[in-house]
Amino acid sequence: MDMAGLKVGVNVDIQRTDGRIHSAVISGVNPEMRSVTVEWFEKGETKGKEIEVEAIFALNPDLQTPVQPVRESQSSKSSRIPNAQSGDGPKAGRKAPLSAKSRRSFAANAQPSVVAQNGQSEKSTASAASKDAAARRKSNCVKEVDKIRLKREERRAQQIAIKEERGSEYDLNDPNWEFIAMINEYRTSLEFRPLTSSDPIVNHTICVCVRKRPMNKKELTKKDVDVITVPNKENVIVHEPKLKVDLTKYLENQNFRFDYSFDENSTNEMVYRYTAKPLVECIFDGGMATCFAYGQTGSGKTHTMGGDFSVKGQQDCSKGIYCLAARDVFKLLHTKYKKQELTVGASFFEIYSGKVFDLLNKKQKLRVLEDHKQQVQVVGLKEEPITNPDDVLRLIQHGNNVRTSGTTSANQHSSRSHAVFQIILRRRNTNKIHGKFSLIDLAGNERGADTSSADRQTRMEGAEINKSLLALKECIRALSRKGAHQPFRASKLTQVLRDSFIGDNSRTCMISMISPGMSCCEHTLNTLRYADRVKELGPGGPVEGKPSEVALPNNYNLGAMSPQNSDLQMLKTSNEEVTDEMLTFHEVVNHMQEIEEEVIDDHKSIIEITQKWLAEDKKLYKATDEVDYDVEAYARQLDNLLARKIQTLTALREKVSSFRQDCQEEENLSKNLKSRRQPNAK
Ligand code: ADP
Ligand code: MG
Repeated sequence: MDMAGLKVGVNVDIQRTDGRIHSAVISGVNPEMRSVTVEWFEKGETKGKEIEVEAIFALNPDLQTPVQPVRESQSSKSSRIPNAQSGDGPKAGRKAPLSAKSRRSFAANAQPSVVAQNGQSEKSTASAASKDAAARRKSNCVKEVDKIRLKREERRAQQIAIKEERGSEYDLNDPNWEFIAMINEYRTSLEFRPLTSSDPIVNHTICVCVRKRPMNKKELTKKDVDVITVPNKENVIVHEPKLKVDLTKYLENQNFRFDYSFDENSTNEMVYRYTAKPLVECIFDGGMATCFAYGQTGSGKTHTMGGDFSVKGQQDCSKGIYCLAARDVFKLLHTKYKKQELTVGASFFEIYSGKVFDLLNKKQKLRVLEDHKQQVQVVGLKEEPITNPDDVLRLIQHGNNVRTSGTTSANQHSSRSHAVFQIILRRRNTNKIHGKFSLIDLAGNERGADTSSADRQTRMEGAEINKSLLALKECIRALSRKGAHQPFRASKLTQVLRDSFIGDNSRTCMISMISPGMSCCEHTLNTLRYADRVKELGPGGPVEGKPSEVALPNNYNLGAMSPQNSDLQMLKTSNEEVTDEMLTFHEVVNHMQEIEEEVIDDHKSIIEITQKWLAEDKKLYKATDEVDYDVEAYARQLDNLLARKIQTLTALREKVSSFRQDCQEEENLSKNLKSRRQPNAK
């Protein structure tokens, strides 16, 4: 930069760290540092400081005008606006680095404050020798009084103009306007390079990505703030609004990296192209594929998997990943894999509070059984043969209607259940499974926190969701460490999907959905942290198969513990957020669920047996009408019948009593969880 009119002895305006602007005299020029030293007289002594020339020019535009082109001086003026707001010094790097090293928490502390002069200290130089000079300068100052007055007026006009400009840019009545300004400023420092369809599709065993949905009408009306930035194809930044103790607002900008990041403009087709599509071929090669939609309720899971709600309330299933995947299955079936003699079938069910319901068969409740070879079966699950994409579309529409029928709100129900849509390839001659693609619209992850709800049903659902999402995470993590133990027994979801997690040819992708709003910030961070744990990409580059700190051996066994509870125990070992109380709670809930099934089964058989008893009773009673009936035989038979009844009923009663005890224990434990949580409750 040209030092222009900056010479020793020239009078300039300076701004003090406390915001005051006044005149001073240049006492030294330092072109290398692009700074000048200035001095002024104050309270009987001469003071001085060093100031960058940019700051001088900003306050004294006419010093620059003769040598700088007009255009430049204008731009230097406009750059003052953000500086004055953000507190960035004139030289402070406004380029927020997105370097891999600064992966987390490069807090951009951007609270509004006056222009700071980069920490220069104002030092007193009241030496005797300089006193003369000071007096000279003082008189110099007096001579300049008029000039200063003029400048002050000019400055005021400028400040009013800046305020007006700001005022039109931000609504100062909006309590969040400073956050909005800081986020905007942060964004201007970023280089945006979103994913495009020309970017390469990478084959991952485990693919973890994130999708940000756009702000919706409700959020816009409520003036919620978009706190998520997706600058490129793999990063996502959360601008978390924070308050200091002194109530200064600042942002904590947290950066995450995934295999892919989809911004608010991405379509379902685009998301599909990089996530589920690469897995379709795997099932033709005899593999198992899973694709999960994970996230908070309302973040876009069903939109992505089932199809967008383009016309009010009507879901266009043809644009969902279920259907897009099925379409590609048929494409490959009729072309590349024509010779393989495969048939295609589909099943669709939901897991609600640890129970499986068949969406293709009137929501029938199904049992999940594990045989001695650890083969898991959903007994009686309907598998519809499908021959073209239209069949699939119809099935999905039907299943969706069944899923949400009789519930107050579609989202209220679906937020508490996992929906599993499966495309199954079978060999035509043997009918054996060749490959399977499971696409899962998971329950809202925020529901996992419902374990301390006052309502038992909600608590049980919450416990199952909490457990299943933890188990899912560990199962996927174990997938990357061949041979590692997968705690699939810890939840119904993972149990049912067990065959997809084992075998050498298993691949999975997880799409983490996030809402953009400030009001969802905490849930969004939870979602991103979870996704980050599923596949720890780290800052440098993909590290698939990175060993975990809890690599348990395959024959992992915890003594006499049930396999289910030992898997639960493993979840605790790998997740510090699972406390002892939580583990006990889960164990009791597990026991409760087991005994509940037994009670219901026994009850059912008692209803059947009661019919038989009644027939016997009638026959026996009728015999007493005969004149010569055998009294002794009658008494013996009646006694026998009553004994059987009592035995059967007592057995059931004992089970019911134990079940009720479990219920009580569950309730007490949940209260304990609640009171423990209260201190930090938000
Ligand atoms: P979830 O299944 O996660 O609870 P939904 O898929 O039901 O969430 O989405 C909630 C709302 O947001 C729906 O009205 C949906 O249409 C809308 N939505 C979700 N994702 C998008 C998107 N990518 N583009 C436009 N609207 C979306
Ligand atoms: Mg949904």
